Amino acid sequence: MAKRDYYEILGVSKNASPEELKKAYRKLAIKYHPDRNPDDDQAEANFKEAAEAYEVLRDPEKRQRYDQFGHAGVGGAAGGGYGGGMNMDDIFSQFGDIFGQGGGGNPFESFFGGGGGGRRRGGARRGSNLRIRVKLSLEEIAKGAEKKVKVQRKVAAEGVEYDTCRTCKGMGQVSRVTNTILGQMQTTSTCPTCNGTGKSINKRPPGADADGLKAREETISIKIPPGVADGMQLNVSGKGNEGPFGGPNGDLIVVIQEEASSQFSREGSNLHYELYISFPDAALGSTQEIPTVDGKVRVKLEAGVQSGKILRLKGKGLPSVERYGTGDLLVHVNVWTPQSLTKEEKEILEKLKGEVNFHPNPGKDDKSFFEKVKEMFN
Ligand SMILES: [Zn+2]
Repeated sequence: MAKRDYYEILGVSKNASPEELKKAYRKLAIKYHPDRNPDDDQAEANFKEAAEAYEVLRDPEKRQRYDQFGHAGVGGAAGGGYGGGMNMDDIFSQFGDIFGQGGGGNPFESFFGGGGGGRRRGGARRGSNLRIRVKLSLEEIAKGAEKKVKVQRKVAAEGVEYDTCRTCKGMGQVSRVTNTILGQMQTTSTCPTCNGTGKSINKRPPGADADGLKAREETISIKIPPGVADGMQLNVSGKGNEGPFGGPNGDLIVVIQEEASSQFSREGSNLHYELYISFPDAALGSTQEIPTVDGKVRVKLEAGVQSGKILRLKGKGLPSVERYGTGDLLVHVNVWTPQSLTKEEKEILEKLKGEVNFHPNPGKDDKSFFEKVKEMFN
């Protein structure tokens, strides 16, 4: 299923200010809130979609990656995308800064069931995210790769037993009534005993932490789409630490690290290659072998080719992570000047020096560097 554009979902322009984003999201969150649309799957889907869009665009770093790389830049291309990792609890915890913290007079407080954070039930906590760096060569980036990584995941320890929290009787929240000059006031807060999970540990096996979790080494296979770039992050939904007390799992965040290539330099989806040819080859014409990310190609250079010429090999670059086609390989021609000469070679060159064909005579076709660069980007 194609994912909708985040700006489109929120109905704002690409250069919307943080304030505009917030306003647009608040409107949608109210419209599609599950309390208002009970048992309406479409409303719930819209609600989640808007929350996901806002979650990405409100973060300047994520927003920049999204603007540059689209959904893939924020994890859309792996493991079900960002949305897969966003559950109702995450969404409700977003409301803290959308609707302000609790204080009286907040018009949304009653609507969202009080407690500014908006967490409606004494829900289980979500497991924390894991981060891992994955090194890829340019060749792997060109084709996409499947990488097996070892991670230390926290999972429920074998034999752990949970009980209902006695302080809050499983509600995750405790209410307290205090007398004030304005009359009785009831305050609700997260249960201090269970931190809101509504559960306590009955039996904790040796080696398990306070949440009954224990680290275990797991091998996880990660599919990396072609065209990723250094610093990009992919989200593998649900492969982070397990949520304590049966809460949802965190995500595994995969940070891409690109290995420097000895042959190519990269510029987005285009690659550059420096080709060195001998002076006789340049003068006589030649066929050269050019390496590519998936093999090599043979290229004919006409006689009289100048140093600085740039050949564009269409489609021999890297695929775009957003599948907008494939970049090009730009071959920069350099004519190699010999660095030492034998006596005999010197004599030949001395003889040629006076010949009129050897006098530099750049014509209209020998464009300046800037013209060449201009042409490259057309
Ligand atoms: Zn409790």
